[in-house]
Amino acid sequence: YRAKATRSGHHVVATADDNHGEDRLRTLEDLRAAIAEGQLVLHYQPKISLTTNVLHGVEALVRWNHPTRGLLYPEAFLALVEEAGLMHELTDVVLGLALDQAGIWQGQGRPLTVAVNLSASSLVDSDLPERVDRMIASRGLPSSTLMVEITEEFLMADRDRAKDILPRLRTNGVRVSVDDFGTGYSSLAYLRELPIDELKLDRSFMLPMLEDARASALVASTIDLAHSLGLTMVAEGVENGSAIDELARFGCDQAQGFHLSRPVPAGQLELWLLQRGTDVPVR
Ligand code: C2E
Ligand code: MG
Ligand code: MG
Ligand code: MG
Repeated sequence: YRAKATRSGHHVVATADDNHGEDRLRTLEDLRAAIAEGQLVLHYQPKISLTTNVLHGVEALVRWNHPTRGLLYPEAFLALVEEAGLMHELTDVVLGLALDQAGIWQGQGRPLTVAVNLSASSLVDSDLPERVDRMIASRGLPSSTLMVEITEEFLMADRDRAKDILPRLRTNGVRVSVDDFGTGYSSLAYLRELPIDELKLDRSFMLPMLEDARASALVASTIDLAHSLGLTMVAEGVENGSAIDELARFGCDQAQGFHLSRPVPAGQLELWLLQRGTDVPVR
């Protein structure tokens, strides 16, 4: 295999483009096995309130615990999952794992919201809302336990399907977040029509926000825009304390990023909570 350093700094061993012939077939076989045999694991990254400093919820991020290649990050295999037509299966596994974990936290008196990422193909998965409802109900969880994140790019690419699926997801209380917001050229009119709860400001805004007055004005007005539409604003990719201060000054609601915590296994998140000395609010 070929080693590759990615934008996010993770070391991955292969991407979809790197695979040819036999290699590729083996990878596909591996992928089917991974999904069916429990090699997918979730890491969780906290979303912190900038006003109360309290932990609101977590984002679940998939990793592939490969038997010989070690821990693989989404960038190394998600494109292949999509290409192989296995994304529905992956999404169901991830939803199951995330909701199981939410149930464990609930049992510990920590009613955390768990956010799960959906892909473009989730928008054409017309049974998804019913499956999601069943998965939540079978665990006896409140529907507000789950949030789904879908990128602005995917929403814009398939507006009609988004307008079908999202309201059905929200009917029973699942919340919807627009991921990587600010990179996908949404129109204001469309945003207003979309049944959504939260915007996640893309992490590409974080550094310019601290270095450039116009970038910082853009972030401030985007936060105001979210609020004027009644949406919660979350900043992602927060890597330092100055970004936190600036976002708080602009009235941003929540933040997520390496400065607060990297995505970690559930057990480590619980340790992080204990060390931090604050716990979740009573809802
Ligand atoms: P995303 O949903 O935008 O997730 C945020 C990504 O940014 C994560 O990368 C996270 O580890 C990384 N990140 C968090 N804080 C920081 C920071 O302060 N600085 C920097 N540089 N990066 C930060 P990850 O886990 O590699 O995931 C990449 C993407 O893969 C996700 O982007 C999401 O689009 C996708 N993904 C992850 N899990 C799933 C899944 O279960 N299903 C689907 N369909 N997509 C997933
Ligand atoms: Mg996300
Ligand atoms: Mg994002
Ligand atoms: Mg992203």
